[in-house]
Amino acid sequence: MNQTIEISEFRNNTRAWLEANCPTQMRKAMTSDDDTCWGGRKWKFASDAQKLWLERMAERGWTVPTWPKEYGGGGLTGAEAKVLAQEMASLGCRPPVVSFGIWMLGPALLKFGTHEQKLEHLPKIARGEIRWCQGYSEPNAGSDLASLATRADDMGDHFIVNGQKIWTSYADECDWIFCLVRTDTAKKHTGISFVLFDMATPGASTRPIRLISGKSPFCETFFDNVRVEKRNLVGTLDAGWDVAKYLLMHERDIIGAIGEVSSTPSLSETAKSTVGLDALGRLSEFHLRSQIAEFELDEAAFRLTLQRVGDMAKASLAHPAMSSMLKYYGAELNKRRWELMASTGGSDALEWESKRSDQGQTARTWLRTKGNSIEGGTSEVQLNVIAKRILELPGA
Ligand SMILES: Cc1cc2nc3c(=O)[nH]c(=O)nc-3n(C[C@H](O)[C@H](O)[C@H](O)COP(=O)(O)OP(=O)(O)OC[C@H]3O[C@@H](n4cnc5c(N)ncnc54)[C@H](O)[C@@H]3O)c2cc1C
Repeated sequence: MNQTIEISEFRNNTRAWLEANCPTQMRKAMTSDDDTCWGGRKWKFASDAQKLWLERMAERGWTVPTWPKEYGGGGLTGAEAKVLAQEMASLGCRPPVVSFGIWMLGPALLKFGTHEQKLEHLPKIARGEIRWCQGYSEPNAGSDLASLATRADDMGDHFIVNGQKIWTSYADECDWIFCLVRTDTAKKHTGISFVLFDMATPGASTRPIRLISGKSPFCETFFDNVRVEKRNLVGTLDAGWDVAKYLLMHERDIIGAIGEVSSTPSLSETAKSTVGLDALGRLSEFHLRSQIAEFELDEAAFRLTLQRVGDMAKASLAHPAMSSMLKYYGAELNKRRWELMASTGGSDALEWESKRSDQGQTARTWLRTKGNSIEGGTSEVQLNVIAKRILELPGA
């Protein structure tokens, strides 16, 4: 069968399936982190619809459409996955589950993991059964991540891990951690290994870092003689930096695309309802109107750039440092989006605890976006990478 006919048949079948299977409640933008399904052993579904949507999508492997079927994926080609994303967007279907497992660990395991590691971990990520956190940053190792000091001592068939991580997002809600540990103290980048372990292992503990908002999106994470089996080493001993860098590329892509993947409410639609229209049917506030128009043009251009880079990556033509460009620009764009979202709501958007504002969702999201230019590597660090690796400017 000709490829164009095949893909249009796939589109028709996909649309019909989504129409029949996506619950109405799951056809609207997620309003907050609490409204988003993260999965995991401790997860409590917000509604029957959220549970059903996850189960139905996981059964088809469509929570991770391009992963191989034997690891819980849908086995779709890049072109088919694009069609699925387009059809989900046109019906307003939200992602059935989001997770660090899907965004970061999964791609790294697919590239560096053994068949046994893939079989053990990937299907549980695809079904939203195990939630992962990322143990990279330490009190003295953030931008200079390779200075990390958490040690894994070789005990023959296992390691004993001791040390501390910081800013570990959702560590207290997660089941397993992917963690960078030092296995050779005499070397820097080439003395780091990448290990996986259950956060319920004796000796692993977390202390939430409370923010001014009262929420705790991350923790300090402590390891006191934690036993990690050698089969949970990903890649080779002392070569974890390669796995870490590859995973970071995926993290940066996802943070860069955050405004695009999280089905955020439309800015102009929100503005229409909060600011109102003039006699000509335009947004009545001139300055805001031009700022929103400018934002939406930049957003459209960025969306096309994301698609172009995605296609280039599939054809192995993308520059490896492009993820830094996407991360930098996407973070700035998302911050701009929420500045404007706050402006359109006026003083109402600063409400903090009212039911009307859904416990201050706009204000809290606006504040949360400030972290976009820090998490996954700061904007300054991305600009350094772009300067050195893309513009090839002389290094300091
Ligand atoms: C919301 C959020 C979630 C996070 N989640 C996680 C997580 O789940 N797991 C995890 O491991 N980490 C996580 N982090 C930590 C994050 O990766 C680090 O905060 C980040 O890498 C910066 O490190 P740092 O905080 O130590 O700052 P530093 O590295 O100390 O940087 C301080 C300042 O100096 C600047 N700077 C540093 N080096 C340079 C340089 N060479 N050139 C120019 N400027 C420089 C930085 O840009 C920054 O402005 C999270 C952070 C945030 C904000």
